[in-house]
Amino acid sequence: MKYQPVIGLEIHVELNTKSKMFCSCPNDPDEKHPNINVCPICLGHPGTLPVINKEAVKKVIKTGLALNCQILEYSKFDRKSYFYPDLPKGYQISQYDMPLCKDGFLLINRKKIRIKRVHLEEDTGRLIHEKDYSLVDFNRAGIPLMELVTKPDLKSAKEARKFAEEFQLILRYLNVSNADMEKGQMRVEVNVSLQATRKLGTKVEIKNLNSFRAVERAIDYEIERQTRVLDLGKKVIQETRGWDESRGVTLSQREKEEAHDYRYFPEPDLPPLHFRKEEIDEIGAEIPELPQQRRKRFKKEYKLKDLTVEFFVQNKDLGEYFEKVVSEFEPRLSPEKLSKLIKLATNYLITDLQGLLKGASVSGEDFLITPENFAEFITLIADGKISSKIAKTVLEEMFKAGADPSHIIEEKELSLVTDEVEIEKTIKEVISKNQKAVLDFKKGKENALQFLIGQVMVVTKGRANPQIVRKILGRVLDKIS
Ligand code: ADP
Ligand code: ZN
Ligand code: MG
Repeated sequence: MKYQPVIGLEIHVELNTKSKMFCSCPNDPDEKHPNINVCPICLGHPGTLPVINKEAVKKVIKTGLALNCQILEYSKFDRKSYFYPDLPKGYQISQYDMPLCKDGFLLINRKKIRIKRVHLEEDTGRLIHEKDYSLVDFNRAGIPLMELVTKPDLKSAKEARKFAEEFQLILRYLNVSNADMEKGQMRVEVNVSLQATRKLGTKVEIKNLNSFRAVERAIDYEIERQTRVLDLGKKVIQETRGWDESRGVTLSQREKEEAHDYRYFPEPDLPPLHFRKEEIDEIGAEIPELPQQRRKRFKKEYKLKDLTVEFFVQNKDLGEYFEKVVSEFEPRLSPEKLSKLIKLATNYLITDLQGLLKGASVSGEDFLITPENFAEFITLIADGKISSKIAKTVLEEMFKAGADPSHIIEEKELSLVTDEVEIEKTIKEVISKNQKAVLDFKKGKENALQFLIGQVMVVTKGRANPQIVRKILGRVLDKIS
């Protein structure tokens, strides 16, 4: 490659606090009715005073600690002045030179991506553009907004996407935001430049990225576009471009020359923030196990394949349910038996249970299967008490009614028939009704045997142990001349 792509990210995240950043209005990003979560403070009426939301500050510090940042002992809020119809005060309360967190990093594919800062600000209202007029909804105005800025350490579209995805996962583990990109709870802006010499190239900022896929596509497009510009001997101009999803291109929005002066100055209505070390340690103690630690532990503790580990790390609730199920297996099992149970449990959770859940969560209120019952279910399969076909029915029943598996098996008479006398009786019945198949088998048609086994399974409603059926059927057919 002639030019080295250089990429830095700026990511805004709406925090999931109960109330807004500087007033007690509900923070409800799902509210559909416009302008009801509003008050004189978040509408910027004169004479009102903001009050800092402590929970929001804690959530930013938590995120900073999880990203290996330094938490500043002294921090403050600043006014960023600009005019726009979605900003009722005429300024945004943000942080300028003393952010809550700075100088962290996140490992992506074992490479350190440095984080320049993580700060706290407030969200703006939402503009809805109609044909020849625009509407303003201030429900979102004043929602706590966290901003993360990376150093330009990312080298490809894939790597940048991975960073954003891992960051989203961390936010969810920390329970600081649901960080849904489609809902605008997490907004990624990318800065892209090409480096030809030792000096960094001119960067272009891209906005309007509503999915991880858009992040990746926009960067790849921009790398190609800038390569063409440089190959023609021209210069890349510093500008903001917007991603056009349907055309798959970035389009110029404004050139940096007209970048405004925000006239930052310390917010006079809010006190500066001061944290003692113990306060920061207390917040740090609330940080749960994070995705990267969990990957290592799942691999070591349960000896799962990388793909399975990743599935459980991404689907956090299901991963946690899996651990509860494993803890319900009989104690003092042989390592072989335990490993067999873990494999079976993994398969049933990832395929069958996922299918039944249809996107719902195992931590939801209407999920009825206790880890204890699931563990028993898996043990019954492992011990050959039910076939895999019956297992499906049992699991469906468990899912619907929440009963324990042995009850369901008893009630519905589902347990696997292993009684050879009973199976032989059924086989004789089937043979008497399927003389043609018997003849075919005698002529050497292997399919006929499969057909007869199938008939026995039909008559027993799938409850006969297939190995025993095969064995006895072979014996009975041998005796027929
Ligand atoms: P500014 O002061 O222009 O906003 P910053 O240094 O704060 O610039 O960086 C803003 C974002 O742009 C950061 O994510 C940073 O990593 C990224 N960035 C800075 N320089 C470059 C560059 N040459 N190429 C790509 N991204 C860059
Ligand atoms: Zn309000
Ligand atoms: Mg900002």
